[in-house]
Amino acid sequence: MSNSRPSAPRFRGGRRGMMLVLSSPSGAGKTTLSKRLIMHNPDVVLSVSATTRPARPGEVDGEDYFFTDHAAFEKQIAEDGFFEHARVFDHYYGTPKDAVEEALSVGRDVVFDIDWQGAQQLAKKAPRDVVRVFILPPSLKLLEDRLRKRAQDSEETINGRMERAEAEISHWEEYDYVIVNEDFSGALEELEMILRAERLRRTRRPWLRGFVKELMKERG
Ligand code: 5GP
Repeated sequence: MSNSRPSAPRFRGGRRGMMLVLSSPSGAGKTTLSKRLIMHNPDVVLSVSATTRPARPGEVDGEDYFFTDHAAFEKQIAEDGFFEHARVFDHYYGTPKDAVEEALSVGRDVVFDIDWQGAQQLAKKAPRDVVRVFILPPSLKLLEDRLRKRAQDSEETINGRMERAEAEISHWEEYDYVIVNEDFSGALEELEMILRAERLRRTRRPWLRGFVKELMKERG
């Protein structure tokens, strides 16, 4: 009988990619977490957003963001080129459509480092594909210290970011999972557990239907 046993396909094409949305207030470690998750998992890619905000020192165009200007951004909105977009502080941020659709179609998981507005829009557009994770700092004091350590922002910007942090945190209950980023490796481990469990979700494995049908035939 063993040679007629159906095999459970584990190849990528047999799985539907998920949209893993990570939100948190600035400084809670979300960007570092998402970058590390991608380094550890070759089938996970990061959605690179477009923004009109200027690049910070060390940021690379096309890697951290696609840095663009207002006119070009508005043109892309008009051409329906974004999955979602939002105005955060005085700048536009948006998720370009093409790269995401291509990745999902070949069974890759796409990580989104976006705020609650983007998370809401994506969840509305693709409720079955979206998994929402909120990253909380262990304390607001720590968050402020981390923002100060970046030492790139003015006092006014830091105050503005702290106000926004509280506004962002107020949306935590809209998320499927919440991670408190007390220590980095623990938070990363939790994020990887979420990824593994969500990959096993029945609806992301369309091949199961055929597999079970074959299973049922085994007894004739
Ligand atoms: P930052 O300027 O610190 O890189 O990001 C500011 C905020 O904009 C963060 O909360 C970040 O998650 C959010 N953001 C980045 N990209 C996008 C995007 O494509 N869409 C939305 N809605 N928010 C984004």
